[in-house]
Order: sequence, then C-alpha cells, then structure tokens
Amino acid sequence: MNKINHDQLLSLEHPFIKIPVEKFRSSLKTEQKHIEKEIAHLTNTVSEISKKSQHGIMDANQVQTALEAIVSRLSTLKRRLTETRAEESLYSQRTKVRLQHLQEFTAIPTLDSDEFGRWSRVRLNRILIDYMLREGFRETASYLAKSENMEDLVDIELFVQSAKIEQALNKYSCSECLQWCNENKSSLKKIKSTLEFSLREQEFIELARERRSQDAIAYAKKHLTPWQETHMKELSQVMALLAFPPDTKCQPYKRLYDKSRWRNIISQFRSNNFALQFFTPEPLLNVTLQAGLSALKTPMCYLPEHRNINCPVCDPHTLGLLATDLPLSHHFNSSIVCRISGQIMNEDNLPMALPNGYVYSYNALAQMASLNGGKITCPRTGAVFDIAQVKKVFIS
Ligand SMILES: [Zn+2]
Repeated sequence: MNKINHDQLLSLEHPFIKIPVEKFRSSLKTEQKHIEKEIAHLTNTVSEISKKSQHGIMDANQVQTALEAIVSRLSTLKRRLTETRAEESLYSQRTKVRLQHLQEFTAIPTLDSDEFGRWSRVRLNRILIDYMLREGFRETASYLAKSENMEDLVDIELFVQSAKIEQALNKYSCSECLQWCNENKSSLKKIKSTLEFSLREQEFIELARERRSQDAIAYAKKHLTPWQETHMKELSQVMALLAFPPDTKCQPYKRLYDKSRWRNIISQFRSNNFALQFFTPEPLLNVTLQAGLSALKTPMCYLPEHRNINCPVCDPHTLGLLATDLPLSHHFNSSIVCRISGQIMNEDNLPMALPNGYVYSYNALAQMASLNGGKITCPRTGAVFDIAQVKKVFIS
C-alpha cells in the first residue's frame, strides 16, 4: 500500500531536467557561433594582409595595425567565451544536482519512510518556488530558495528578464517585448507565435488612440504590411480604427481600443516565454493538486446539500474551482460519510437513522446528545429528538 510508484511521479519531472540541459545546449550553440564567426574573419583578414603586403599595398606599420585589430577582436572573443563558459558550468552543475535529487527519490521504497518525508519537503518547496515565480513573488521565492539551500533546484534567474518585460508591458510599452521577440525570432517561429503581430498591432492602436494618423499610417506601412498574408482580417479591422475616435461605442473598434488588450499581451508573452524555456504552461502546483483532487472528486462534490466538510473538492471557492474540469474519480467501493462529523460510517461508527429518516454517524450523534442532555437536533430539518429514538441502519 505504501509502496512508491516512482514512474508516476517522475513523469511530472521532465521540465525539471530539461530546463538546465536546454540552457546548456543553447549556451554551447552561442559559443560555437562566436568561434566560427571569428575564425572566418581571422582567416579572411590574414590572407588579405599577406596578399596586400606581398604586393606592397600595405607597409609594415599598416600590417602591425591590422594585426593589432585582430588581437583586440580575439580578446573580445576570449571574454565572451569566459562568460558563456561560466553559464555552461552553472547549467551543467544544475543538471547534475537535479539528477542526484531524482536519483535519491528512486532509492526510496516506501511513502512512510523518513527519507521520503525529507525528499518530498524539498519537492514541495520547489513546487512552491515555481508557483511564486510565476505569480511574480520573486523576492519571496529567492528567500525560500536561499534559506533551504536549494538554488540549483529552481530557476529564479530565468524570471528576471521576463519580469522586466512584463513590467514594461504593464506601463504600456512594447519595445522591450519586441526586442525579446527579435532575440528569439527563430524559436518563436517554431512554436508559431503571433506575439510580435499582437505587439505591432497594439503600437498601431496606441497611435490611433492619440489620433496621430500620419504616424499610424507610416507605422502600418513599415511594421504591419509584412503580416498581410496571414492576418488580413485583423489588419483591415485595425486600420479602420483611424476612422473611429477612442471613445467609440461601435464594435469591434471599441474592443480594439480597450486597454484590457494589454493584459492579453502579457499572458501571450508569458505562455510563449514558458514554452521557449521549457516550463510547463501550468504551474506544477496546479498539476500535482489536480492529480490528487481527481482521485477525490465525486458527483456529490458540487451539490451544496451534499458537501462533505472534510473533502477538499467540496470547497467551491478554492480547490473545488481547480477541480472543475477534472474527471470524476472511479470508486470501486462506496464509503458513507457522516454529514455532521465528516467521518466514515462503518462497523466502528455505525450509521444511525433519526425518526425523520435522516442518517448520521453514531459518534457524532452520541457527542451531540452528551452535550445537550440526551437531545439531538437534526442539522437538515432542525427537528429535535431523544437519543433513545435513533435506530441502527444496516446496509446490505
Ligand atoms: Zn467532495
């Protein structure tokens, strides 16, 4: 019963390993690009210098200056390589620490062992830090990671740049996010992102809002026409904004002027950024909670009159909300739960029927009677009975 199903839990841990591995890979790629570019430049310049000096086009002084320029470029390359090397060693260290963390887990046989308690505490902290980072509580997340000495198990720095971009978008500025799009052009293309179009469209809308029609037209010519083939419908709508003032009641122009579009851009940026960094679209906290909730969810959970005080899914404002789209759990055996105490009714805590037909557990009724001089009040109807009137119920 307490045996751990390692594969089930490990299936949720792909991004945990993939993130540092992919960072390591992209850092190697950048390094390789730098080296190739500089080698090509070096070979070309050296052969040019040798040709020119042979034909007397360059004198000794000019050759020296040209060689000095090469040396300075090579030193720049060296500095860059030192930086990427530092990044590589960080991510290789992270991959190692994370693999060790998972390896520790595979060696734990049972759920009730102390080792599992310790390991799952670290995992819980990881999940909480991931949640805090996604919700923008970066300082709290850093504090927890530092105090638990688990900085290699979380990806705080990956949220630093994205936080800056989100802050800029919150202040209605697209330039930082556009720059990010430019830096990640090929990866965004791979995931078929339309974020850049949304940003360009928004910049146009802001010009239209300020009634700067000439600027807006010039902007559209430069930045919107490249999207003609794929986004013709959106383009014709947004261009028509020039004919409508920002306080228009006419749809779809009223909607285009709506400032809430900025919130959509932020969430579009977030999901693109998560995809590029190999984060799951949903926080791991939601995923793990949902896995547990789906095991508890029954058709009764959403019926207010049948709520069980001990069932997390029955709380409509918190976990019940998270479980809305989950399937119902498959029950082989039914349990009868007391509405008063939330305890299961069985041979140790018999179900007892009141004269009005409602059934509650023996323990709950006995406790109520002992506090009220032998009297019982039915929580559903408010009717009062004597404890002697209740009858045992047998389920066959
Ligand atoms: Zn429930």
